[in-house]
Amino acid sequence: MHVILYLLLPLLGYLQAKSTIGDCSVDTFNYRFSLNEFVLGISRIFILALLYDGDDPTKEWAFTGAAESLGFGNHYVDSVQPFYSYEALEKSCRMVENGVVAIFGPRSEENAHVVESVCHNKDIPHIETRWNYDPSKSTSTLNVYPHGPTLATAFADLVESADWETFTVFFEDNESLTRISEILKRDREFSIAIKQLDGNGVENYRPLLKEVLRAGHNRFVIDCHVDRLTTVLQQAQQVGLMTSNYHYFITNLDLQTIDLEPYKYSGSNITGVRMIDPEAIITDSLANLITNQQSNPEGDSINIESIAPEDIRLETALIVDGLQLLQLGLEELPDMNRCVTDVTCPGLKGWTHGSTAINNMKMTSFEGLTGLVKLDAEGHRKDFTLDVLNLNEDGLVKVAAWNTTHGIRTVRQKEENLKDKTFIVITALVRMCMYLRVCIQIKQIRGRLKRTEPYGMHTDSETTLTGNARYEGFAIDLIHEMSKIEKFNYTFKIREDKSNGSKNLTTGKWDGMIGDLIDNNADLAITDLTITSEREDAVDFTTPFLNLGISILYQKPKKSPPNFFSFAEPFALEVWMWLGGAYFIVSISLFVMGRLCPSEWTNPYPCVDEPEFLINQFSLRNAFWFTIGSLMQQGTEIAPIAYATRMTAGIWWFFTLIMVSSYTANLAAFLATENAEVAFNDVYSLLKVYNKEGIKFGAKNKGATMNFFRDSNNDDFKEIYNYMIENEKAVMVDSNQAGVKKAEEEKYAFFMESVSIEYEIQRHCSLKMVGETLDEKGYGIAMRKNFPHRHKLSTAVLKLLENGKIAELKRKWWEEKKGGGQCVGEIESQEAKALTLKNVGGVFWVTVGGTAFAIALVFLEMCLHIVKEAIRHKASFSAELREELKFYLTFKGLVKPVRLKKGESKSPVESNKSEKSEEQEMQEMPNSYGFLPEILNKPPLD
Ligand code: GLU
Repeated sequence: MHVILYLLLPLLGYLQAKSTIGDCSVDTFNYRFSLNEFVLGISRIFILALLYDGDDPTKEWAFTGAAESLGFGNHYVDSVQPFYSYEALEKSCRMVENGVVAIFGPRSEENAHVVESVCHNKDIPHIETRWNYDPSKSTSTLNVYPHGPTLATAFADLVESADWETFTVFFEDNESLTRISEILKRDREFSIAIKQLDGNGVENYRPLLKEVLRAGHNRFVIDCHVDRLTTVLQQAQQVGLMTSNYHYFITNLDLQTIDLEPYKYSGSNITGVRMIDPEAIITDSLANLITNQQSNPEGDSINIESIAPEDIRLETALIVDGLQLLQLGLEELPDMNRCVTDVTCPGLKGWTHGSTAINNMKMTSFEGLTGLVKLDAEGHRKDFTLDVLNLNEDGLVKVAAWNTTHGIRTVRQKEENLKDKTFIVITALVRMCMYLRVCIQIKQIRGRLKRTEPYGMHTDSETTLTGNARYEGFAIDLIHEMSKIEKFNYTFKIREDKSNGSKNLTTGKWDGMIGDLIDNNADLAITDLTITSEREDAVDFTTPFLNLGISILYQKPKKSPPNFFSFAEPFALEVWMWLGGAYFIVSISLFVMGRLCPSEWTNPYPCVDEPEFLINQFSLRNAFWFTIGSLMQQGTEIAPIAYATRMTAGIWWFFTLIMVSSYTANLAAFLATENAEVAFNDVYSLLKVYNKEGIKFGAKNKGATMNFFRDSNNDDFKEIYNYMIENEKAVMVDSNQAGVKKAEEEKYAFFMESVSIEYEIQRHCSLKMVGETLDEKGYGIAMRKNFPHRHKLSTAVLKLLENGKIAELKRKWWEEKKGGGQCVGEIESQEAKALTLKNVGGVFWVTVGGTAFAIALVFLEMCLHIVKEAIRHKASFSAELREELKFYLTFKGLVKPVRLKKGESKSPVESNKSEKSEEQEMQEMPNSYGFLPEILNKPPLD
């Protein structure tokens, strides 16, 4: 029967073709087509064929249905064995001889090459819908399947964007190897394991899957035929590879056509790609078309299974897109040119207008079932878009899109209204007390309890409470405020071990609240849950509601016994040294200025009008005495006369005024507060002294703080982590409260988050925060990855931050409730600190400035005096200056003879005294000013 049919087919085809060709010159080609509208045109002109070698009958139905709908009145489908090129050659030859304007298919490589060469020789369009990594160079072949190397690049981009360190690639055959080739080529630091899906002929992949399970692999790329994919995923679930720890990227573009229901709730992260939007009306129309076609062969439509839009595979949709492309290509040809006649196979003659039709197709573009259909000059599909899908409880959800121009673009999820949604919120609590009496008892042993104050607590109440009213705290209030904004409901669930969640680095599994979210035991987690990059990989967070950093909680320093030399404490050592320096310099300046200033040379006998010598009060001893006298606020009888010395004295008094008042004020502070012994000021000084001082330090076990030190590249922080691990039993605690207790009772520095420290130091007055924060981070509300309501929840947090509600809640739970504010007075008390140069440097500079100004005055005064003397002696200015300087710079004695003008007589005192010869007189003269200093030895009145 089969043989007879096989022999009859060409004949039938020939007869059919003849009848069609007969119509070729008469019918008009004037249809428009839209799959939505099904506007049928009239066409008896063209015949086209599908050479079919696959196992998916929907392709045939889609071809037939769409060809009819598009007005291709004459079309036929023939089948050929896959990889049977001789048959393919024969059948394609028959087709072109029968006047087909295009051949669709076949799929297998060997058959496709044969049809390609027949079409190439006859200039007949050959339309392909298959993956081809090494696309044909034939000018007649047009492939509407995405260009192979470009699609491979898209897969590599998507895997790269997932940021997987190591992963396993499952492939099926050579064709699938070419699809993943780009992924393997990308440079990366970590290794990729490659495994072939070899089912040993019985589709049993379990041994292979168990092997990867044992090896601890948890990220997979799967590339295989869609039929095999179902089995692989089923068996992965059976061996335990479908839990929250496992991530899959599936390259098959038909992922959406398989049943993913069993994996929706598995927690595993399954990502895939597609080109057909099952929600588009055009896809629905095609599904109906195919459903209708199924009944046609027997005219029976009773037992047919209707095709849903999500059942349509890519190649089926591409056949329809290919038909539409052909229709657009032919539309451009004049009616007469649309007939293919006298083409023989073998033979030289081809379709004269074939290349025009092919070029038209390459130049056109349109929105088809698979997005934009556009070919390049070589007939390869370009500018296509892939939808990136993620499997969640609602099924496959589009999360991003990839295209050749922009690469990956994340798609904002359509957010549902949260009204009437109920979330399970996991948190941790303190104090299991329903009745006040029990609470009091519990308060007595609270030090031994693990607590999560102030985030979640049991409500203190004498009556039995139910529902959410059983709990109170900052986190409870925050969720309540958010629910008021977004109108959602919530039920609290309690994490008994109070573990926030950490990742087991060997198994990659999460415990604590993060684990609960991943395993779908809760929708949201709220407590002092720090947002870390490691957690962000596993779950999503809202915008942070509190900002913090790691700091140290330690005992307030003990007061030290008063120091024997505590009188020196008001000034730092440097200030004392500068003070000594200033005293020395000002004293010397006064001495020098005193000598240089003419006004400082005074007449020792005020009754004698014209003294023969002058005296100066600023001896070196007097200068030092004068400055110390003013520094000690005692004064001396020395009174500066010259402008310069008065200026210097004034500045010095100002200096002493400031210094003495500062000293007095600070001394009072020092005497009032006993200074505390500070063991360390920050983490670095702690590292220097902890051994010597016997201080231990630690953090909360498995918490974000411990992980901060674990992951840090800073050598000091690494040292801290190593110390904590080596002394784990002695220094690591299970809760913040255990750490606080330890810090109170022992010499123990507890690394804790600053917001929690703020809470504790309001209630534990013997503790304080030491040093700055080591990092900056925040607490957020966690939820499963790709949680659809994340944006709405984040917006609610932002609104509460902006309207000050969160600050208000913080004030309430930190400072007002549950013993808050106890230590406020103590927190504010300040220690007295020695004044440093920073505090009193200004007054030193004023003194320096004043002294410099005084020196300038000295010279001015001296110059004026010399001018006056030069006039009096009728001598030149320079000669007078020389004389004066000669005296001053000898620094000998404080008696300065007055030089007489020529013709002036000596004073009476001098004339009485001097009855010596002029020669003797000259010899006894100390210098050119020439008078005896002995006059000073006796008071003048004697
Ligand atoms: N907030 C931390 C966490 O989320 C716990 C406390 C800590 O590590 O200091 O893990």
